[in-house]
Amino acid sequence: MLNRRGPIVLLVAAVFSVTAVAAVQRGPAPRDAAAPTPSDHLGLLKQQAATEIDGLATFTQQTTDMLFSFAELGFQEYETSKYIVNVLRQNGFTVQEGAYGFPTGWTAAFGSGKPVIAMSADLDGLPEASQKPGVAYHDPIVEGAPGHGEGHNSGPAVQLTAAIALKKIMERENIPGTLRLWPGVGNEPNGGKAWFVRDGFFKDVDLNLHSHVGSNFGVSWGNFGGTGLVSVEYTFKGETAHTAVQPWRGRSALDAVELMDVGWNFRREHLRPEQRSHNVITNGGGQPNVVPGTASVWYFFRELDYPRIKELWAIGNRIAQAAAMMTDTTVTWRLIGEAWPEHMNKPLALDAYENMKRVGLPRWSEADQSLARAVQMAVGAPVRGLSTTPGRVGEEVPPAERRGGGSDDIGDVSWTVPTILMSYPSNIPGAPGHTWASSIAMATPIAHKGATAGAKVLAMTTLDALLEPKLVSDAWEYFRTVQTKDTKYTPLLSKDDAPATYVNQRNMAAYREQMKKYYYDPSRYPSYLAQLGIKYPTLEPPAAR
Ligand SMILES: [Zn+2]
Repeated sequence: MLNRRGPIVLLVAAVFSVTAVAAVQRGPAPRDAAAPTPSDHLGLLKQQAATEIDGLATFTQQTTDMLFSFAELGFQEYETSKYIVNVLRQNGFTVQEGAYGFPTGWTAAFGSGKPVIAMSADLDGLPEASQKPGVAYHDPIVEGAPGHGEGHNSGPAVQLTAAIALKKIMERENIPGTLRLWPGVGNEPNGGKAWFVRDGFFKDVDLNLHSHVGSNFGVSWGNFGGTGLVSVEYTFKGETAHTAVQPWRGRSALDAVELMDVGWNFRREHLRPEQRSHNVITNGGGQPNVVPGTASVWYFFRELDYPRIKELWAIGNRIAQAAAMMTDTTVTWRLIGEAWPEHMNKPLALDAYENMKRVGLPRWSEADQSLARAVQMAVGAPVRGLSTTPGRVGEEVPPAERRGGGSDDIGDVSWTVPTILMSYPSNIPGAPGHTWASSIAMATPIAHKGATAGAKVLAMTTLDALLEPKLVSDAWEYFRTVQTKDTKYTPLLSKDDAPATYVNQRNMAAYREQMKKYYYDPSRYPSYLAQLGIKYPTLEPPAAR
């Protein structure tokens, strides 16, 4: 879930290349110099990690392209997880599949002892976001199908690339500590991370480093003014009947859904402006000559804090019950997901920011920039091309200035262990998010170079955590004495709520066979662009050329 970071982040500093920094740190050492200091050693290891990651660029590109071609919706990430699990096994990680009741969930580990550094990235795509990469106008690969309209296909590439490079360095240097990888299953429905929290994944974890696609490097600390949410599906049950012959014998569950939606939309005027709420009808009945006996509507209720999310949810429940009364139907609901408002760790964010400066933005080609400008023109955004200018660390927004916005279930993790979300520059600034336009860059050199840069930042920040115990203790100090001083995490999830893995099943099944024809085959094509026969960049539709 992107686009939530209003006054946040954005940084860059192509000024420091890795080599330049390493050269400065090593310096012209005097002939009789003592052994390298710990920070010299760390700087050298970071340089080695960057070199390893550059050497993995083809792997990073293939992973990004492969997952782009799978474009699986939340909870249906079967091909995606199978691919990732294979890579992890081939590279000597210990993998557990089917983690925490998610068929597409897994955990992977390497190393032993403390610190335990968890590394996460989301997996899922979005409905109706199918789009040919590198093409600056709406041109779906499969009409109506899901696509990576946020760019989650690049996150696992960042995570895997960094982990493979780190493992090599940890083995060679005998660095103690454990890497623990895990996926954001069903991130878009916000239905995965709180279960990993509830069922104990983090009980011995020291830090969580989450990599997420952005259009620049970015990292924030504190609460930066977004919302949390609860994601709930209401199902009404009535009576089927012939809609023309004996409609009076029916009780329409769809009527109840519509009345609930009407009720909510009237009530909306009398809710705080900071709230965000929206719904889709997931089941509106079968066909017009049958009174719908079952109908469902799925809501997101977003607010700035836990008590207000609960309050909004309670209003939703009352309106659902009222709609059931009006129609003589019954209603039940189930929690599909939740996200606490995010609160990111300050010491970790400041550390990651230094690594972002050290890595610097990728060198964009004229082809990358011309695609970016054409997409910005197409979506009505300021035509500025790709990010090349420095930003700053996103900071806590004071409560009175929080205006609401998006949510992400990484929030629940951020209230469990010190956590940061590190954005990397794989997408084009200015697209509205969650749409075809945000898919365009995600299997092009823009995404590939951004993922390589993101992997370097993740690897370097992990090395800091492995080799500087003070970073881990400072992170916990902030977590205990600042972040959780007055606010304690209480999940919206009960101990009995099962993962809602049925969500998106039908939508995915409707498109999977058509999409399979377009799965990326790296044994035949150097890139997904090559497989699709796309000239990079393609700026105008054929008729306009
Ligand atoms: Zn996301």
